[in-house]
Amino acid sequence: MAIKAVRGVRDILPSETGKWQRVEAAGRKTFEAYGYREIRLPLFERTELFARGIGGETDIVKKEMYTFDDRGGDSLTLRPEATAGLLRAYIEHGFQVEPKPVRLYTAGPMFRYERPQAGRYRQFHQANVEALGEVNPAVDAEVICMLMDFFFALGLGERLALHVNSIGDVGDRAGYIVRLVDYLRPHAAALCGECQARLGRNPLRVLDCKVPDCQPVVEKAPSILDSLSPEAAKHFESVRSYLDTMGQAYTVTPRLVRGLDYYVRTTFEVKTADLGAQDAVAGGGRYDGLIERLGGPADPGIGFAIGLERVVLLLGDAEAASRPFVLLIPLGDPALQRLMPVARAVRRGGVTAELGYGARKLPRELERANRLGVAYAVIAGENELAAGEAVLREMKTGEQRRVPIAALAAELCALSGRGVSPKSVSPEGVSPKGVSPKGVSPKGVSQ
Ligand code: AMP
Repeated sequence: MAIKAVRGVRDILPSETGKWQRVEAAGRKTFEAYGYREIRLPLFERTELFARGIGGETDIVKKEMYTFDDRGGDSLTLRPEATAGLLRAYIEHGFQVEPKPVRLYTAGPMFRYERPQAGRYRQFHQANVEALGEVNPAVDAEVICMLMDFFFALGLGERLALHVNSIGDVGDRAGYIVRLVDYLRPHAAALCGECQARLGRNPLRVLDCKVPDCQPVVEKAPSILDSLSPEAAKHFESVRSYLDTMGQAYTVTPRLVRGLDYYVRTTFEVKTADLGAQDAVAGGGRYDGLIERLGGPADPGIGFAIGLERVVLLLGDAEAASRPFVLLIPLGDPALQRLMPVARAVRRGGVTAELGYGARKLPRELERANRLGVAYAVIAGENELAAGEAVLREMKTGEQRRVPIAALAAELCALSGRGVSPKSVSPEGVSPKGVSPKGVSPKGVSQ
């Protein structure tokens, strides 16, 4: 029996990686335009970092972490999210002395033992962005606008809704939880089993339960916005007014409390109607106090995580997988030796070329050219070689013409729309023994 991938863990296949690269490039471009710098973090950390950073009562820490003892007996955990590790690095490397806010981004796999379903995996990928050391509500608005600009860059702006909320400071939230539990207790029998358990453990989570039975109760729950201190209420008002100033549309959603314990004041989420139950594409919030809790200075912070699998799902299949431009088909080893340096020169010119290895018959190689979807095939057999030429075949029309081998690399680069510099097609060392350097030099073109 062949061994399969672990449940909830998937391969990202070559047919999908074009979309991933586009998403990653849009992230880099957008975040860097706002002055964020990339930081790369380890995939595992000491378990206590997450227990302290995310909160011992959260679903993540209680039920979802991949925790193990290493051979030295230390308890380690595959990171379930990136913020705790990023803040650990912020403290460890003394970032607090840099001009504030310190703007950092990172991306990579996260690990959570959740029930796998469409859009939910046990290894998944996030891009994370954090602005550290600045408490001004303008930062909250700027971070949120940057997130929406990332989606705009991918052409997804229209399909997403931005929800914002404030969950107040720690004291506000404690007061609200008392009011919420007072309201929920008499309705406990109408809640799902999971929510009945949450009532004692983490009542805020009842607010984002998706079970239909819970909805009538949840909809009438008191609003956390009524429990905000004057300072927290003012902060939220400023965030909203800055969002208005920047022309960013949003919905205020008082039930938006998010699953992590560390949030205070601003929280936000980006949702789509196009992915079924797993409708959250990105989420984040402010976490003033967390850096201190992890042993660092009293610097505030705000950030978000984008679920990259869900962004890629939204992009659909429109993205064509990238194809090689040309297949070079040598018939026999002498022809292979003439085409090898040509292939290398074409590739150095930035054009994707595939090379046959001389042992297959022409019909099979042409079939391969069709399957690869190349625009051109170059064929060289004994006759062509004797004349110093190769056949250039346009696959779509079947039209063929002869081209001097010496001119091939430049011709292919020109056809692909990539002008070719003399350097890139006549590098020292590209011409093996027995092949004249002119064979791959653009000089050959003008001769
Ligand atoms: P969180 O770190 O829980 O705030 O999640 C931030 C974003 O990561 C969510 O909005 C999702 O898009 C994505 N995400 C969270 N958990 C998973 C998962 N198990 N599989 C795929 N994406 C996820």
